[in-house]
Amino acid sequence: MLCCFLELEMSIVSPDTYAELAPMRRDEPLARWTTLRLGGPAEFFFEPRTPDDLWKLLTRLDEDGVPYRMLGGGANVLAPDSGVPGAVIHTGGMRRVFRDGELGLRAWAGATNQQLVRSAAEHGMAGVEELIGVPGHVGGSLAMNAGSPTWGLWDQVEEVTLWLPGGEVVARTPDDVQPSYRNGNLRGAIALEVLLKFSADRPQAVKERQEAYLRRKNETQPVTLASAGCAFRNPEGDSAGRLIDAAGLKGVREGSVVVSEKHANFLVHEGGGTAAQARTLLAHIAATVQEKFGVALHQELVIWPELV
Ligand SMILES: Cc1cc2nc3c(=O)[nH]c(=O)nc-3n(C[C@H](O)[C@H](O)[C@H](O)COP(=O)(O)OP(=O)(O)OC[C@H]3O[C@@H](n4cnc5c(N)ncnc54)[C@H](O)[C@@H]3O)c2cc1C
Repeated sequence: MLCCFLELEMSIVSPDTYAELAPMRRDEPLARWTTLRLGGPAEFFFEPRTPDDLWKLLTRLDEDGVPYRMLGGGANVLAPDSGVPGAVIHTGGMRRVFRDGELGLRAWAGATNQQLVRSAAEHGMAGVEELIGVPGHVGGSLAMNAGSPTWGLWDQVEEVTLWLPGGEVVARTPDDVQPSYRNGNLRGAIALEVLLKFSADRPQAVKERQEAYLRRKNETQPVTLASAGCAFRNPEGDSAGRLIDAAGLKGVREGSVVVSEKHANFLVHEGGGTAAQARTLLAHIAATVQEKFGVALHQELVIWPELV
């Protein structure tokens, strides 16, 4: 199945070429690295340890014509059953958050959202409270502009360091990038690290707000089950979950993938299912909501294509 890239590899690229830049495993099952617990093997699975190693690896893969995909916490990705040819670059080896000035935190792309939330509370920095309980890494969360219906991580960004296809590393502000609701607008750029700004507050007050958000999430989302968060973006002035619920789709299943009874915009994987089942269910939900309410739902979940 993955023979095409292997041929390419034999003739042009040896994985040893990249050994100094990042530890690498072959045929790593993506179901292990995605919160939906779905997805076949990544042909080459890299885990760089620093932003420098990440951009050097990306530049080399780009120059060698090796296809690559970024994977953070895998909390918003539906990986294909057939697996991914070429490289998947997982940011899990790059988990660092540093204080930067009185009211700033600098985070590498692989820092987890929970690390960020904890650091902010410890230092009495207000701003990212709504990221509590949002699984994933900072790089993936910038790509998705993760957050709540009224707030996204980009609201706290002072400056992000991006690698651009072609090999350039640049600093960009939110004004340069123009992110929007659940869309970091990275357009192929890769987030290496980010400087976030905060306002000052008492650590205890920040912590209490975080805990209130977490309680609400635990009450309203199936947080203990395998899912990938909201499957669809909220349409303007409405909620995708409300529409899916009103369409009578809670509990509807395709194989082992089910529309959550707790939050209709979450798909839950009960185990032993496939990405194909998830895609069929997503299509059924979108078609039903369109037919009943005339509303086109757009996926928030990032769907990586199946090999044909
Ligand atoms: C239980 C649960 C609750 C959730 N609640 C919320 C919520 O309240 N709000 C919300 O917004 N989301 C929520 N989500 C979805 C998910 O947590 C967020 O989208 C999160 O930001 C994804 O981050 P990640 O690191 O897992 O990204 P991944 O899923 O790994 O990747 C997402 C996308 O980003 C790309 N990417 C990854 N790293 C980089 C990088 N360094 N540079 C460029 N692109 C990159 C990937 O290629 C992919 O296209 C929830 C998910 C779950 C499972």
